[in-house]
Amino acid sequence: MRDNPISMQVTFLGTNGWYDTVTGTTCSVLVQSEEYDIIFDAGNGIAKADRYITQQKPVFLFISHLHIDHIAGLHTLVKFRFNKGLCLCTQKGSVTDLMAFVREPYTIPFSDLPYKVEIIELAEGRHMMPFAVECLTLVHPVPCFGYRLEIDRKVITYCTDTGVCDNAIVLGRDADLLITDCGLKPGDVSPGWPHLNPENAIHIARQAHAKRLALMHFGAEVYGTLGERRELQQRYEKEWPDLIVATDDLAITL
Ligand SMILES: [Zn+2]
Ligand SMILES: [Zn+2]
Repeated sequence: MRDNPISMQVTFLGTNGWYDTVTGTTCSVLVQSEEYDIIFDAGNGIAKADRYITQQKPVFLFISHLHIDHIAGLHTLVKFRFNKGLCLCTQKGSVTDLMAFVREPYTIPFSDLPYKVEIIELAEGRHMMPFAVECLTLVHPVPCFGYRLEIDRKVITYCTDTGVCDNAIVLGRDADLLITDCGLKPGDVSPGWPHLNPENAIHIARQAHAKRLALMHFGAEVYGTLGERRELQQRYEKEWPDLIVATDDLAITL
């Protein structure tokens, strides 16, 4: 373990919920640690990963759930040349459905990609990947994992898509960066298809004592312009100073 904290880059490759629009592409977040490139979700934003990574480090891809906006970019994996291979992690019981999507005639199967791919099913709990990852189920119409990544003495939590739940708070505890869903506009609720509004996200971040909060997964039909996203920063300045309202290709250093 090093004495000096290593700086880490987090790049929001895709920040839209459900489909691509002029505001951006669907969900994907890149975390560049010293030894690994780690990606949360494979929405269409994942196709931009090679703008940022050298492809010389092992790549880990954590899938939250199988809604299309989180896996639609998997067909672009064929363009990459991950020299140290790809380890794809998805929740226990989801591999059969994932394989049904990533196969002929829709796209090229994992086994035919031009690099080594390992697929791992994760149960709820804590795992050594070799870095520590904790995954817990969130509140969503289909099984969905939130992830807590502990690496290079930093904690990054990724919780989308979800309603307010204890597991999001548990995963976000003392996180250096908590990334949440912001599918809804201020004050809006959607009990039948849980997502967060900005107040919900701030509530979770406060309960978790997260250091920084980033909002993404802005519903494509809800936030029609980037201006509507930016308004959130001003509106919640008092409740959460330095709120990060993510847009595609925004990069932050931890
Ligand atoms: Zn989604
Ligand atoms: Zn979803």
